[in-house]
This record gives sequence, structure tokens and C-alpha cells, in this order.
Amino acid sequence: MKPQELRKMLQDVGKLSLGLLPTPLQEMPNAAREMGAATAYVKRDDLTGLGPGGNKVRNLEYILGDAARMGADTVIVSGPAQSNLCAIAACACAKTGLGCVLVLNGQENPAMTGNLLLDRLTGAEVIYLGPVKKEERNAYMQKVKADLEAAGKRPYVIENGASTGYGAIGYMDALLELDMQNNSLKNKVKSIFIPAGNGGVAAGLVFANDLIGRPFQIVPVSTEFTKPELTGKMRSIIAEAEEILGVPFASDMEDACHITDEYYGGGWGIDTKESRKAVEQFAKLEGFYIENIYTAKTFVGMCDCVKKGIVDKEGVCFWHTGGFASLFAQY
Ligand SMILES: *Cc1c(COP(=O)(O)O)cnc(C)c1O
Repeated sequence: MKPQELRKMLQDVGKLSLGLLPTPLQEMPNAAREMGAATAYVKRDDLTGLGPGGNKVRNLEYILGDAARMGADTVIVSGPAQSNLCAIAACACAKTGLGCVLVLNGQENPAMTGNLLLDRLTGAEVIYLGPVKKEERNAYMQKVKADLEAAGKRPYVIENGASTGYGAIGYMDALLELDMQNNSLKNKVKSIFIPAGNGGVAAGLVFANDLIGRPFQIVPVSTEFTKPELTGKMRSIIAEAEEILGVPFASDMEDACHITDEYYGGGWGIDTKESRKAVEQFAKLEGFYIENIYTAKTFVGMCDCVKKGIVDKEGVCFWHTGGFASLFAQY
């Protein structure tokens, strides 16, 4: 389908406008030289303009659109102590007048560093569960929800770290935004490198790219899961988006994108030798920051794929998803 047709479909879903969009698409001449690319670009989704910025602003535009349609008055969201999602959701709630409950790992009275400080400043209610697993946090969110309902509130739970059908639709929208910017650049961007945690961002980009005829080669760089695991997660998020939009993803994941799981090392939040070096190097090259959990691993993957010839040396685009605040807790 044509990009305009997809844009119309997304408009019909409806979102809450939270971000400062479109984000800039900039050239990265110094990074390009360093990685041996002819031309390199960065899509600055670290500058989405709400709270500390980052990809979760786009996810939340559609997720909170859903919450508004359901008449919610309070949002419940959970994550690790340095969750970027939780910090940004707290800002989104402050801005739109929603109550906000964050269910976090971490102990009572933690050092107010990185996102924890930002969480506190928004006035969100923060509940610390200690070092429990995701499943336990999810169960606790359901308990908070039941308690709020019993008190006459209308709570809305954000599931799966915002990597849901609605969350992914935020990135379908983003793909159309990049496509439009790229048209005015005479289509110089050819490939996109994107971090993939739970795979919501990647799912949205891949689905939209596929629907409009694959103008880009997309490389999701896994920051946590093996390729088969991530593929499964992206498939189920796309299935949710298909359901919302009423349009099928008619391709094989293998054809629609190039998932790589070679760069995550010890897993989520554990830096690698290469990611650490990339963090140190990057700010010296381009004058803005990447961090160890998502963006540095993606940048390492991008350099390696350019070197190995997996993508063309022309027009590689690094999709910066933010995470700036968590950098303070990584050193
Ligand atoms: C959440 C997050 C991601 C990963 O998004 P998924 O949709 O879970 O794959 C990437 N980068 C940053 C900075 C994030 O906060």
C-alpha cells in the first residue's frame, strides 16, 4: 500500500500527542568515517521531547490513546529500577493529568540516580519490589489495579514494557516519518539499525516497512534475546497490531528484516567490552551520547555489519532510541 494509505489507517487508530515530532534525521560524518561507511545518518529519537526523551514517547502516544478511550484516570507501569519507560510514562501522566503508579525493582530508599531521580521529580507513586522477576512485577501490577478499582478508580496497566500492538503502532508511524524525511533527501537512507529488547520498536518498523514495499533494509540488533526468541516476540506483537489495524503482515520475518543476536553479550543491562568502548568513543565523535544497554550494542552491531558487507556502505541509519538518563547509573 501507499504510505498515505497507511498514515490514514494509523490516524484512525488515534493517539495522544505527547512528543516533539518529527525528530531530526541528521548526518553523522565522523561516525561514518570511523565505521567505514560512505554516508551515515542518525534518527534522533533520543530527542522526542518529553521527559528524558527516547522511543517510549512514541509507544506511549498510542498506548495512552487507548487508555483515554477507556476512560482511564491512573496508569500502572513496571520495569527495572532504571526503566526508561517508567520515567517517560511518569512524565506523560504528569503532562496529561493522569495518576501514575510505578512498580520497580530496587530496594526502598535507593540512591536517587539516573531515572530514579527523574521518577521522583514527577510525583509518581513508586513501589519498590526488590530483585524480583518480571512475572512477579506483573502480578503486583494486577494487585495495584484491583486495589485501585476497589477504591473507585479506573486504572490502566501498560503491559510488556510498552512493547504491545499499540506501542508498535507508534513505530509504524515513525517509519512513515522517516520515509517522508528520506524522500526529501532523495532516498539516501538505505538501511536502519535499531535496538531490540522486547521487540516492540522493531516490530512496528518492520511491519510498516513491509506494508509500504520495503523502502529500507531493517536490522534489529537484539540486546537481550536469541534470534528465535526475538523473532517470536516480534511476531506476537505484530499479530496484536494486525488485529488493531485489520491488515495482515503477509511476509516471512526472515525476508522482512535481518535480525542479529551477536552483540548482546551477557544480556540486558550487562555491558560488553565493545559497548563500553563505543560509549566512550561516540560522544567524542558526534557530540551526543549513547549508553550501554541498548544504543551502544546497536552501534557496535552497525559498525560490524558495515564492515562485513551485510548492508551497503551508503546510507546506513542509526536509530537512536534514547536511554540517556540511565547512563548515570551505568558508571
Ligand atoms: C525500551 C527501549 C528499547 C527497546 O525497545 P523494545 O521495543 O522493547 O525492543 C530500546 N532503547 C531504549 C533506550 C529503550 O528504552
